[in-house]
Amino acid sequence: MNVLIINCGSSSLKYQLINMDDESVLAKGLAERIGIEGSVVKHEKTGQDKVIINDSMANHKDAINIVLKALVDSKYGAVKSLKEIDAVGHRVVHGGEKFAGSVVITDEVVNTMKECTDLAPLHNPPNIIGIEACKELLPNIPMVGVFDTAFHQTMPEEAYIYPLPYELYQELGIRRYGFHGTSHKYVSERVSALTGKSNKELKIITCHLGNGASLTAIKDGQSVDTSMGMTPLEGLVMGTRCGDIDPAIVTFLMNKKNLSIQEIDNLMNKKSGVLGISGVSSDFRDIEEAADKGDKRAQLALDKFAYTVKKYIGSYAAAMGGVDVLVFTAGLGENSGPARKQICEGLEFLGIEIDDDKNNTRGKEVEISKSSSKVKVFVIPTNEELMIARDTKTLAK
Ligand code: ADP
Repeated sequence: MNVLIINCGSSSLKYQLINMDDESVLAKGLAERIGIEGSVVKHEKTGQDKVIINDSMANHKDAINIVLKALVDSKYGAVKSLKEIDAVGHRVVHGGEKFAGSVVITDEVVNTMKECTDLAPLHNPPNIIGIEACKELLPNIPMVGVFDTAFHQTMPEEAYIYPLPYELYQELGIRRYGFHGTSHKYVSERVSALTGKSNKELKIITCHLGNGASLTAIKDGQSVDTSMGMTPLEGLVMGTRCGDIDPAIVTFLMNKKNLSIQEIDNLMNKKSGVLGISGVSSDFRDIEEAADKGDKRAQLALDKFAYTVKKYIGSYAAAMGGVDVLVFTAGLGENSGPARKQICEGLEFLGIEIDDDKNNTRGKEVEISKSSSKVKVFVIPTNEELMIARDTKTLAK
């Protein structure tokens, strides 16, 4: 069974075609600058060099059309005809309270997704456009929606409610939803495979540290708390997002700097985080390099980031009454030994001890804790596409 995974962003589209008989990737790629001049698809058939397809794409439907053509191309395609695509799995960012798991997409499901758009105005519309385009171009092929928020629907009420008037939760759905759920779920399931223990017996803290970053506390295999909130702005210091700040700063700044709603939103989402503190970059590689050369603000950004992650680890250990496993994943979590070391330093009191030699690793699934460490610490590369493909396979059958 071949499953096509589609992940639509506002001007981009990532895709993977996976053979679910052995979970191998047949082809993958990225369409960029959709609706903008210079749109391009970077397509890669497994085992071949990447090809660059320059073609105009006015919208996501055009992009999907080009992707489908690439997938059946005689030179760099991965299948002979579109009939060999058996199902499509779509990543959807926000499922609100409506979706606690993946679902087969029907017209009713699309309408419910549209109702969640208020909660993710930047993310859900392109996801829905991608679904509608696939429905037209690949009629009669089952499609499945996999939500970033779904894994976190198990959070207890005291974890997800905000201390605002309760009516606002009832009326507008203002509550913590959490994101990166597919990634947190994937790595926590890998923990079972690596430890030989069911994750029902384990208290796990998963650290998804990329450009966007979030931590999740997982008990009995279920998300019991997570650092992102109603939107992906809350929680850790991120590449360009501020994460937790005093909410009064918002009105203070709007007043002092005469900022509009869009301007303050842009400031907190695009100009803050480690970019805002360092003034160097949102990319941790650039910041680590600048800090190595003695840039004090770059060092401060790294220190603030590690300190925030450390505090969340402590609070989630408290929330779960302990921690057995700590996992690092995503761009920074998988690749930066120095960041992992800085985060874990001082957490020996929780039983977290990492081994410097083992920690000198990138992009591999490996244990990095000392044999004496009470808490097992792992680096586990995330694989959201595979997780989406697995759910799609199960549901499409
Ligand atoms: P997202 O999917 O949120 O865009 P990723 O999970 O791809 O993010 O992570 C991207 C980030 O990971 C980059 O911005 C960079 O800061 C960080 N990163 C990737 N590789 C390294 C590395 N070798 N050292 C330090 N940071 C890295």
